[in-house]
Amino acid sequence: MTQKRGFTTTLLHADRLRKPEFGALHQPIHTAVTWGFDDVQGLVNVFQNKEKGFAYSRQGNPTTAALENKITMMEKGIATVSFSTGMAAIMATVFALVKQGSHIVASSFLFGNSRSVLQTFTEIGLDIDFVDATDVNNIRAACKPNTCMVFVETIANPATQIADLEAIGNFCEEHGLIYMVDNTMTSPYIFQPVNVKASLVVNSLTKYIGGHGNALGGAVTDTGLFNWDAYPGIAQILRQQIKPELLGITQIRKRGLRDGGGTLAPEAAHNISVGAETLALRLQHACGNAQALAEYLNDHPLVDKVYYPGLPDHPQHELSKKLFRLHGGLMSFALKDGVDIFAFLNRLQVVIKSSNLGDTRTLAIPVAQTIFFELGAERRAEMGIPEGMIRLSVGIEDREDLLNDFKQAFDAIS
Ligand SMILES: *Cc1c(COP(=O)(O)O)cnc(C)c1O
Repeated sequence: MTQKRGFTTTLLHADRLRKPEFGALHQPIHTAVTWGFDDVQGLVNVFQNKEKGFAYSRQGNPTTAALENKITMMEKGIATVSFSTGMAAIMATVFALVKQGSHIVASSFLFGNSRSVLQTFTEIGLDIDFVDATDVNNIRAACKPNTCMVFVETIANPATQIADLEAIGNFCEEHGLIYMVDNTMTSPYIFQPVNVKASLVVNSLTKYIGGHGNALGGAVTDTGLFNWDAYPGIAQILRQQIKPELLGITQIRKRGLRDGGGTLAPEAAHNISVGAETLALRLQHACGNAQALAEYLNDHPLVDKVYYPGLPDHPQHELSKKLFRLHGGLMSFALKDGVDIFAFLNRLQVVIKSSNLGDTRTLAIPVAQTIFFELGAERRAEMGIPEGMIRLSVGIEDREDLLNDFKQAFDAIS
């Protein structure tokens, strides 16, 4: 009997479970677009879902399948479909499962592009309400008879609000709603949404899972908790071919990935797979750096406010301690009125001015002037986004170098 293994050990040995050629320790990068069959019956069986296999790589190939397998293990789910980006995963999942006239309740703190794509869906017949998801009562109040899905993130970006994850999970279970949780900001090392009864877990693989800013990717994982058999939005043809627990994820693969076409390239899948091997190590270090920086910034006279779940005065600090292994690598802080935010950012030498997050390197971006620019000042004020806010995605640099970089930048402008 094999012993139950830890998060990283499991990942490091995952490719070998699939016995790659010559005993390779990595799943090779399969660039073939299509596969040949000696007996045509084999090809037919793959098409009819009677046998596992590959036919045309828009809907999967061995390299992306190996990555999907790792994500399924990390998320303790039953199956995963990978996509070219996180946005492709979100777009395809909603597209594949939600019918015209159905209602979705989504967090009002969703990642900007997620909010934007949902808004576009309202123009083609979906009904969507955005509510403050830090309290399940707001979700409850927004639900209607035609509600089919609740969509939240774990920790919001940039202001780090944490959704009422457990209570929303119980609510969705009670009402038979698809509970979709975007786990990008926490990653499966810090939090597994299956533990709060999520039905589907979305990850942007571009961020912490890939972790090195060298590949775009996305994934959706089915936790196995939702009763797809009872869901009216499943195609009849699938009901005849597929086991009930796999109906949802199969419909996502067919309608979302095969028909939508947002396929993850095998080279990117390989980069993400290798990156994922150090997810736990990177996050342990990055979250430690984030905590140290948050405490330093919180005491600084030029800083008005720090947004980080690891600080005791964060509104969901207790929830973060209860649900998450670590408080995350993302934080924001607002400089006091009158402090020149661009001058400050330009003085930073180790920290890079850049828009990504989840990279090994620490990246900083002024929020109001970039990612929230299109909203306008009025909407930003409503959302509690100060004009002097800086978002930091904290990386794995040596801690002293990061702290010293902030010290010298503050010294230079004061
Ligand atoms: C970045 C991000 C996405 C989108 O992922 P891409 O891979 O950039 O398309 C979705 N959700 C969250 C929370 C993100 O941070």
